Amino acid sequence: NLSDKLDKALHVLKGHGQITEVNVAETLKEVRRALVDADVNFKTAKNFTNVVKEKALGQNVLTALKPGQLMVKLVKDELTELMGGDAEGINLSGNPSVILMSGLQGSGKTTFSGKLANFLKTKKTKKPLLVACDVYRPAAIDQLHVVGDQIGVEVFSDREEKNPVAISEKGIAYAKANGFNVVIIDTAGRLAVDEVMMNEISDIHKAIKPQETLFVVDAMTGQDAVNTAKAFNDTLNFDGVILTKLDGDTRGGAAISIKSVVNKPIKFIGTGEKMEAIDIFYPARMAERILGMGDVVSLVERAQEQYDEEEARKLQKKIAKNQFGFDDFLNQIQQVKKMGNMKDLIGMIPGAGKAMKDIDIDDDAFKHIEAIIHSMTPEERSTPTLINASRKKRIGKGSGTSVTQVNQLLKQFDQMSKMMKMMQGGGGKRMMQMMKG
Ligand code: GDP
Ligand code: MG
Repeated sequence: NLSDKLDKALHVLKGHGQITEVNVAETLKEVRRALVDADVNFKTAKNFTNVVKEKALGQNVLTALKPGQLMVKLVKDELTELMGGDAEGINLSGNPSVILMSGLQGSGKTTFSGKLANFLKTKKTKKPLLVACDVYRPAAIDQLHVVGDQIGVEVFSDREEKNPVAISEKGIAYAKANGFNVVIIDTAGRLAVDEVMMNEISDIHKAIKPQETLFVVDAMTGQDAVNTAKAFNDTLNFDGVILTKLDGDTRGGAAISIKSVVNKPIKFIGTGEKMEAIDIFYPARMAERILGMGDVVSLVERAQEQYDEEEARKLQKKIAKNQFGFDDFLNQIQQVKKMGNMKDLIGMIPGAGKAMKDIDIDDDAFKHIEAIIHSMTPEERSTPTLINASRKKRIGKGSGTSVTQVNQLLKQFDQMSKMMKMMQGGGGKRMMQMMKG
């Protein structure tokens, strides 16, 4: 399925240390192939990968230490964007609000009409009425009545009337007279797009002027879904798409294509035959589902990790060039503090827990150090040798500490710098790796 394919395509990037521009292009080609295989039309897929590539280069994916993860995030964000940003609701502003269903035969209109009525019924303020306008198959009217009985929603039908426009109008009049505030109009479809069907749904649409016209489409029909969506949209200029049969192993490609071809939001999805199998469509969730990725948060966290590694690399360079200053020191302190409680951290070092047990480390251990550094000028921070006796006095005063404490910090800093410089010859690199775990 699509997830597996995309996973495979992105596998090239995952875990690899460095990638090249060629590598990005190749991977995106794989992503494009995976999308096309999942019924996303070629133009959409191509556009998609172009946008991702541009963003990837703009965000310096190539210089990041874990470009693969950044790429995965970019692909996911872009997929989300492509499928429509935020979840959009249904317009229920009318009294009654009229919702017209459209779509091919077998797409799931009747089933979804029931699901939607059931869904709205749970909102205490909504009283829906179902109207049966499929006049071609006698069984169609029965089917809607069965659905209505199942969910406890009234169904309006007129077996004598053969004109669907007249039935829909009668249905709305009935709703007004009987206190229904939502009218869901179930219509007939054909097996394929034809003029008679289009004229009929178009006539109903013109006559009743619904608040909401929904296009119901079977997600399993793949590439055909896009063509059908386009035909219905050209005629009805519908408000939203309902993607049904997204249960089981259904390919998700239709969602991507439809949105990009008709530029209408996907509002709900159907995930089974039961009345409860309805979900609001959330593009981000769909993107995750398509990519087969679990947790967005962990991705973001990993991106953050990546940033820190980049910082660490810069720091290493500075130390090597003897440019490590108090600003970097302050930065390091902040990093350590971010990791949490000092005592807990030390407790995690194997063997250290016992040895350090009696040493009292309070979390404010860095307070004085930070205060002293904050009282230094930028020049003093980058070139600590500038700090003479009168400067020490000034810094002590400014930070609420004594000259002795300032001296202590300067001495510690000097020792640390020397030590770091010593570690640079191979040993330092290993230690950095160890710290990264
Ligand atoms: P209509 O011709 O557009 O009214 O389509 P129906 O509502 O009669 O649905 C056609 C078939 O698809 C029926 O057998 C439904 O049970 C089934 N169906 C509808 N929605 C879903 C869905 O979300 N998942 C699954 N698995 N089947 C569905
Ligand atoms: Mg039907």
